[in-house]
Amino acid sequence: MSRPKNAMEIFKHLEKSNCRECGEKSCLAFAGAVFTGAKSIDACPRADEATRALFRGGAGETGDNGDIYLAALQEKMGTCDFDEASRRIGATLSGEVLTLKVLGKDVGVDHQGRFHTDLHVNPYLGVPFLNHVLDGKGVPAKGQWVSYRDIPGGREQYNLFHRRCEENLLRLADGHTGLFDDLVHLFDAKEVPPQFQSDISVVLHFFPTVPFMICYCNDQDGLGSAVNVYYDSTAIENVDAESLFYLGVGFTYMLERLALRHG
Ligand code: SF4
Repeated sequence: MSRPKNAMEIFKHLEKSNCRECGEKSCLAFAGAVFTGAKSIDACPRADEATRALFRGGAGETGDNGDIYLAALQEKMGTCDFDEASRRIGATLSGEVLTLKVLGKDVGVDHQGRFHTDLHVNPYLGVPFLNHVLDGKGVPAKGQWVSYRDIPGGREQYNLFHRRCEENLLRLADGHTGLFDDLVHLFDAKEVPPQFQSDISVVLHFFPTVPFMICYCNDQDGLGSAVNVYYDSTAIENVDAESLFYLGVGFTYMLERLALRHG
């Protein structure tokens, strides 16, 4: 999977003729649009197949590359030492299946990379889960909350993370007053004393050592409501920054789909 760090990484692969066939004024403007997810790389008829494969899905969606990355990680399960991994990350091992709690629900994987769970496993969940199994250190949370922006490797992707996760969570929270009750009931979240001057704070666990806190602030003095999300400062020891991006954004997509389904 290729997640460009900035628009220039995409620009380098374009023709640079500024032909405007993509509808943008220049190749650089087009690169920016692909980076933010506003346009698909396929909108440039002059991009070769390798470039399309590299950036299809933009910077904020996993696209085909996410599936390819997930498949590569699934293959690695064949050589993963499940005994060692279970001890390291606090998973349980039953026969050939390593199982970990994800959002309060059991998710298992076997040596063929097959998932055993009632949850729908897409790259947003599968990639972080398998990265955690392979490389997570199992460092317990310290209760020191940090923004995704302050996680090593998170700063460059923060604007996109903010748009895809925090802004969409805010829309959901503003339009669905029962959102936080649903989080508690559906995903084993816990309401905690409000943090960072918020009005509601809930904590859920992507993995047992990777908590995620959502803080909602009511509209005060006409400044508008706000949602900020936080990871524990130890999160980067347990899963890489890209996987933390996937977890926050993928969880938001899942909530949006649930909201659409149930109104
Ligand atoms: S169509 Fe492709 S080559 Fe032409 S301006 Fe757009 S990005 Fe550049």
